[in-house]
Amino acid sequence: MSNDTTNEPARDFIRDIVREDVSAGRHQKIVTRFPPEPNGYLHIGHAKSICLNFGIAAENSGICNLRMDDTNPTKEEVEYVESIQHDVNWLIAGWADERLGLKPKGKLPLAQTLDGRADYYLGATSPTAGAVLEPFYASDYFEQLYEYALQLIRKGVAYVCDLSPQDTDAYRGAPDRAGQESPFRNRTVAENLDRFQRMKAREFPDGTCTLRAKIDMTSPNVWLRDPIIYRIRHAEHHHTGNAWCIYPMYDFAHCLSDYIEGITHSICTLEFEVHRPLYDWILTELGLPRTLPHQYEFARLNLTYTIMSKRKLLQLVKERRVTGWDDPRMPTIAGLRRRGYPAAAIRHFCRSIGVTKYNGTTDVALLENSVREDLNKTALRRCAVLQPLEVIIENYPVGQVEELDAVNNPENPADGTRRVPFSRRLYIEQDDFREVPPKKYFRLAPGQEVRLRYGYIIKCERVEKDAAGQIVRVHCSYDPATRGGNTPDGRKIKGTIHWVSADHALCAEVRLYDRLFTRENPDADGNFLDCLNADSLKAITGYLEPSLAATQPGDRVQFERLGYFFADPVDSKPGQPVFNRIVGLRDSWAKLAAD
Ligand code: ATP
Ligand code: MG
Repeated sequence: MSNDTTNEPARDFIRDIVREDVSAGRHQKIVTRFPPEPNGYLHIGHAKSICLNFGIAAENSGICNLRMDDTNPTKEEVEYVESIQHDVNWLIAGWADERLGLKPKGKLPLAQTLDGRADYYLGATSPTAGAVLEPFYASDYFEQLYEYALQLIRKGVAYVCDLSPQDTDAYRGAPDRAGQESPFRNRTVAENLDRFQRMKAREFPDGTCTLRAKIDMTSPNVWLRDPIIYRIRHAEHHHTGNAWCIYPMYDFAHCLSDYIEGITHSICTLEFEVHRPLYDWILTELGLPRTLPHQYEFARLNLTYTIMSKRKLLQLVKERRVTGWDDPRMPTIAGLRRRGYPAAAIRHFCRSIGVTKYNGTTDVALLENSVREDLNKTALRRCAVLQPLEVIIENYPVGQVEELDAVNNPENPADGTRRVPFSRRLYIEQDDFREVPPKKYFRLAPGQEVRLRYGYIIKCERVEKDAAGQIVRVHCSYDPATRGGNTPDGRKIKGTIHWVSADHALCAEVRLYDRLFTRENPDADGNFLDCLNADSLKAITGYLEPSLAATQPGDRVQFERLGYFFADPVDSKPGQPVFNRIVGLRDSWAKLAAD
């Protein structure tokens, strides 16, 4: 089990509220929800919300519903629904799933509530280990929401308004300027009922009228100035087809979906704080019989070198700036997964940044560090040379091959050892040789000794160049007495470098990914496309130790001294892996900034 469940329990102001509610016995069960709109793929910001909502449910033997907040037919698609379901399942898989209370496949029974109406979607189901989390859909509640709207009309607190969209905006005023009442505000209940039913019956085109809550056009909170709660959209919906041409607005659908599902704590990001009075107003006006949900807000996640808006990510995809939503450079969950980020590392990151009410920007290096920490413990070490320089060991017999023992993971002795072939012709990294070495350069240089990892100490005897003066290969000698770390004469060798046997090396495509943007705040001036990193992907041929031919798609390894790499699950073939660089061993950007 990953360390995020065995650590100290997380603490933050929302968990404090929940703990207090639990100890006061306010709820039989804690029920949270994660409510994405299926208008794009989930990103790392959503992961923060997922970890918070599922975390609180798990910690309190509660339930967390995945709910598609699907009230806008023109922007939503089945592709997004499916990706969201997949991504959430991936992110929470293996993470205390026995305690999450997953919703089983198939339609849930509606429970009869005390007032005899079937308006309570049973969130609580018996937990099944390994179950797949199935989504709820706000659009499954359209009938119920319509009934609630009728109830508000009958009560005289909602009316059909025929103002054009432009006039509706103009009449709303501004935070420092009172709004103006709509001329349709005082229609009779009978007239409103009639018109609302005719809206539903497809009598009016888009934009001709809306249903509005009758609250207060002078409220300092503009969200309370007779907000629209229904609008007309003659559009096919991914989940309800053509059953409806009127669609509830977010504010109306959200609080009531929360109520219908028996949500106790409705947790969202800070920008919804100003919506909370409306959330409460709707629930209160309906005089609902069960305990009402409460909304709590926390600061959204922003990351340096990252954009986090679905709309802008969609633009990158549409304009083919990236290969798709799952491009390994994307901050989407699908992209991070394809890059090779383990789910546990993302959860660990979300946990480490905490939950507050203050908006800020988190250094993306923190996320990368969570990935390193996770992989340092789990990834097997392998040797690979990415910028090869040929080395000939002149005193090593032609045709001889030795198998040297190599440790799989020094962090975990149980991972054992493997054998790597050693021969007369090797590759080392170009960086590990300098013809004119700077001071304190402890790697290979003419006349200088270095240790080959798992192998022998070698000494550079001679550099071979072509006619143009370029180094072609270097010629070395080796000391047979120094095999596998031996230093018989107590010689001090400061440098150890990695290598592969040239004739045994597996050639494979290696994709060196880097940050997608060169600026810390890519969208500071609204032109995030201007700072796309031209070097965010370099595909090269790597020379890998032959054991890597057995790599399975989805395996993660550390290429010693280089970084962590992931066998791309789509492009890898049996015996022929394609590796994505997940993250380097050190933060190369921090070094750049310091230089
Ligand atoms: P975006 O602005 O990126 O398009 P969104 O807020 O419109 O995102 P939703 O699908 O409505 O996306 O979000 C689902 C849930 O995830 C909401 O509760 C929202 O508050 C939360 N969420 C979205 N972005 C972040 C973020 N950057 N950090 C934390 N939570 C987020
Ligand atoms: Mg949203």
